[in-house]
Amino acid sequence: MTTLLGLSPEEIQELIQVKEKFRSKQIYHAIYSGIESFDAITDLPLSLRQSLAENFCIFTSKVDTSLDDEGGNCKLRIELSDGLFTECVILSDGTERKTICISSQVGCKMGCAFCRTADMGFKRNLTAGEILEQYLIGSKIAGKLSNIVFMGMGEPFDNIDNLKKAITILNDKNAIGLGARRMTISTCGIIPGIQALAQSKLEIRLAVSLNSAIEEKRRQIMPITQRYPLSDLKSALKAFQQDKNKRFTFEYVLIKDFNMGDEDIKALRHFTSGLSVLVNLIPWNTVEGKPFQTPDRKDINVFCSKLDKLGINYTLRKRKGFGVSGACGQLAYKAKKN
Ligand code: SF4
Repeated sequence: MTTLLGLSPEEIQELIQVKEKFRSKQIYHAIYSGIESFDAITDLPLSLRQSLAENFCIFTSKVDTSLDDEGGNCKLRIELSDGLFTECVILSDGTERKTICISSQVGCKMGCAFCRTADMGFKRNLTAGEILEQYLIGSKIAGKLSNIVFMGMGEPFDNIDNLKKAITILNDKNAIGLGARRMTISTCGIIPGIQALAQSKLEIRLAVSLNSAIEEKRRQIMPITQRYPLSDLKSALKAFQQDKNKRFTFEYVLIKDFNMGDEDIKALRHFTSGLSVLVNLIPWNTVEGKPFQTPDRKDINVFCSKLDKLGINYTLRKRKGFGVSGACGQLAYKAKKN
């Protein structure tokens, strides 16, 4: 059955063939309010509600598995209408603030060596409706969600059209009404996407998964570096900063004996110079079958103190739980294997 999620009021009107414009606006507004059936839109005539229920649906996905950890975080494996799986994570910082990490694709084409999602290969893009469903399902489970990061399975800029549609609806006061500044797109470094975001009127935040500022090393773990070398990436980020006049984030997964040495720090310093950037350090979370090691506390402290000395702005992400299924793609990857 066709969902009405992800459609504009005009598209809804055309699809359901209703004459009065205000009816499609009522439906558009209502389906983002947490309802699960058209029956709940009591200000619609009964005949219209019945016709909607016979021909259309709101949700197409369902929660298959839910994992909670001791820190109040929750990871969801979501089954899509075609039997494929995606996942999202609700992150709590111990306050009222809750962030949902949303997927944009099933699998991914980018092939990052440290990522479980990459092992699945690429299956398909999520529709705008499926992207929005993750937010709506997350809200039902966790209550009000204050922030979104598009950092789950997939490369968001590789599904830019559906992502844009979803973001427009998330931001629309007549739908979800989440401020653009509360949304972050995390990319592996797709330059056209960064350029499009720089030109967008919406003040969406940007994060770039860097992981090494040494060209050869980054190429080893992030094949996208071949298409978009670090020098081009830096130029695009400088232009982004000029257009948007604001700071962005580099994500840097700390991998023992790989990207934590003095030459890595030197390259990082060189790469961040001239950019107003915060480096988000993420200790590598063990993924079965991957040839990388988690740094110990001492390695991390040494790395951080060297960044302190060089005046590089950073934050250190606290490890989240979820046992063996902590990293992006692990739950959905398990589902694929079962
Ligand atoms: S880290 Fe992100 S971009 Fe890289 S393979 Fe995994 S999902 Fe794709």
